[in-house]
Amino acid sequence: MSFHIAVLAGDGIGPEIVHATVEVMRATAGRFGIDLRFQEALIGGAAYDATGHPLPAETLALCRQSDAVLLGAVGGPKWDQVQPPSLRPEAGALLPLRKELGLFANLRPARLFPTLSSASSLRLDLIEGGLDILVVRELTGGIYFGQPKGRSPDGQSAVDTCVYTRAEIERIARVGFEAARQRNRRLCSVDKANVLETSRLWREVVTEVAQSYPDVELSHMLVDNCAMQLVRNPRQFDVILTENMFGDILSDEAAMLTGSLGMLPSASLGTARSTNERTTFGLYEPVHGSAPDIAGQGIANPIATILSAALLFRYSLGQAQAAEAIETAVARVLEAGYRTADIAAPGEPAIGTQDMTRAVLERLL
Ligand code: NAD
Repeated sequence: MSFHIAVLAGDGIGPEIVHATVEVMRATAGRFGIDLRFQEALIGGAAYDATGHPLPAETLALCRQSDAVLLGAVGGPKWDQVQPPSLRPEAGALLPLRKELGLFANLRPARLFPTLSSASSLRLDLIEGGLDILVVRELTGGIYFGQPKGRSPDGQSAVDTCVYTRAEIERIARVGFEAARQRNRRLCSVDKANVLETSRLWREVVTEVAQSYPDVELSHMLVDNCAMQLVRNPRQFDVILTENMFGDILSDEAAMLTGSLGMLPSASLGTARSTNERTTFGLYEPVHGSAPDIAGQGIANPIATILSAALLFRYSLGQAQAAEAIETAVARVLEAGYRTADIAAPGEPAIGTQDMTRAVLERLL
């Protein structure tokens, strides 16, 4: 059986890290006898320049025909002033892509490799032995999508609307509880139930869903407290389940506890079955953006994207062994002392994207 992977490199460092990752995926597929077919398409500023739209119809069609999508990053100063704003890469490509592909669940593992403890912004005693938190973020509802949204005709006021339905909360809660079952069986649901009506509904529905998961310990936490607890005592968390905007912010905060955005993968899963009817369709991308400040210099850290490919093998292709092979290779590379500039300690020598990729490839085989 062959698997079809849509490859959307995007802007900035996107092409550098995605092409490095495709090399790792090819090698992994060869090692495990998996038939992967890659097809590239345009997205983001690159697509806007070539076609006038950051998410061309052909790109969306290719994604729909694929088993999984590997995405780099989009955006950069070149497109920040594009008019109308709905044609800017993030608004015009990322949000509609998630919506169109029904990707409602965003899984962001924030894992601190013990060898990188010194890269964390926290004191060593708070993170000793590493960290392993999974943020499960709702991705297609809430304030980023609610209507009405926009400026008043006189430009003097603006409105965004936060809406959640019971069904939206229920399906993301199930993803969170299922994920907790694969881990340490603790789920912390994060909301702002003391102020927001949507949060009160969120808490009510999550509590109901918890009845089906008596083996998972559920707790609730207000988002402002969670932001504090993440830097005060991050080891208390196993799975954090939260809505779209809170998840956007908390997952970046959790990311920094691990030392570098360049290390963090993500998976976005949908309800749709992939084309082979056996696995879950998903989109895989690093948590970081297009890093225009270092684009084209060959120094970007490819590990977040490589680890995203591991999640792709696990969740969309059902190839857990291949996923583990990639994750183990990355861990070995770090143990061997290889560092890109973003994770190197002061004075420590740094290698570039290609050398880091080669180091991972050498440990795969
Ligand atoms: P960013 O994540 O691109 O960069 C933040 C900082 O981290 C920069 O100093 C960058 O050099 C560094 N960095 C990020 N990834 C790295 C890597 N792999 N290796 C080494 N260093 C890395 O965030 P930003 O600067 O706020 O945004 C830049 C552009 O990316 C903007 O146009 C923004 O809209 C876009 N963006 C896109 C996505 C996405 O495509 N999913 C996400 C966030 C931001």
